[in-house]
Amino acid sequence: MPKAQETILEIDLNALQHNVNFIKSKLKTNTKFLAVVKAFAYGSDAIEIAKHLEKLNVDYFAVAYTDEGIALRNAGIETPILVLHPQTVNFKTIIEHCLEPSIYSQRILNEFLAVAKKHKQTNYPIHIKFNTGLNRLGFAESEVETIVEILQTTQAIKVKSLFSHLAASDDENEKDFTLNQIESFKRITQEVSDSLDYKPFLHQSNTSGILNYPQAHFNMVRCGIGLYGFANNTEINKSLKPVATLKTSISQIHNLKKEDSLGYNRAFTATKNTKTATLPIGHADGINRLFGNGNGFVFINGQKAHIIGNVCMDMIMVDITNIKCEEGDEVIVFGPQHSAENLAESIDSISYEILTSVSQRIKRVFRRYF
Ligand SMILES: *Cc1c(COP(=O)(O)O)cnc(C)c1O
Repeated sequence: MPKAQETILEIDLNALQHNVNFIKSKLKTNTKFLAVVKAFAYGSDAIEIAKHLEKLNVDYFAVAYTDEGIALRNAGIETPILVLHPQTVNFKTIIEHCLEPSIYSQRILNEFLAVAKKHKQTNYPIHIKFNTGLNRLGFAESEVETIVEILQTTQAIKVKSLFSHLAASDDENEKDFTLNQIESFKRITQEVSDSLDYKPFLHQSNTSGILNYPQAHFNMVRCGIGLYGFANNTEINKSLKPVATLKTSISQIHNLKKEDSLGYNRAFTATKNTKTATLPIGHADGINRLFGNGNGFVFINGQKAHIIGNVCMDMIMVDITNIKCEEGDEVIVFGPQHSAENLAESIDSISYEILTSVSQRIKRVFRRYF
């Protein structure tokens, strides 16, 4: 692999394929696979990732917001796209781009219905979301009757699926809570399906739900973080391959003497002779300021170099006193050998946040090995 000469996010499409195969190996053959590609496919690149996943025949995509779905449609993606968190202002555009909204409240249902009728739609595909304990988005169980009444009186929309989201599928200590969510989803969906003259398909599981609760796979699973190589579980992480590697290179090396300071507000002061490397990546690139002052680290020639002083907008400085390296050498911020999850832990964060923070100004480079 060529050495990075600037800051790049390398995307390994073979790793993506590996992760899809691994997750699919946990499913029954007829369980549908929805790939979550919101937030630029977890900070990588939604279009390239979706194009590759479409070739791998995933059944569905999900994005959070309408504009993310439009970007996929404009790039030629034809697979159905579920928009998880649409707003009423988006409904006309959703229909124009054949996106499928999550309908999560009576306000949203009535508004979408009005827009669908206005645009002379019949059987426009929607997905009804139920709240089974996350208390974030979704209808309550007590609303089933009302929803069904509305659905029975219209030809404009058709429910393609019923779904819900688990609150703590990665947390073994919350097993009872999760099992309760699964039971209440079964109860609700049974009630809805009994009152409709057709059967919407059902889904409830994110990555950790897929891995920890096979009884919650239903007809489809929604896989996000697992696609990108993380499973919220150290053992299973070993079977997955991180898709993204964030790399940069050393711009300049400085030799500080005892009592020299470094960076804004002189946040670091050398207590001894200290060699530092300045790197072209800062908080505007996704390096949280919390990583400053010794918390975060990068790897140079296999060795750990701590970030010292304050994180600047476009730069960080790292301590290379004990590392053999030169200006121009490659630096790994995270990747398969140095996991984003480890880095996340140093500031009490999670892989999701580290991956999705990689700013759009960093060039994405795609690698595929045959
Ligand atoms: C983001 C999201 C997912 C994906 O979750 P992962 O833990 O990344 O697999 C699934 N469903 C919903 C509703 C989401 O918002």
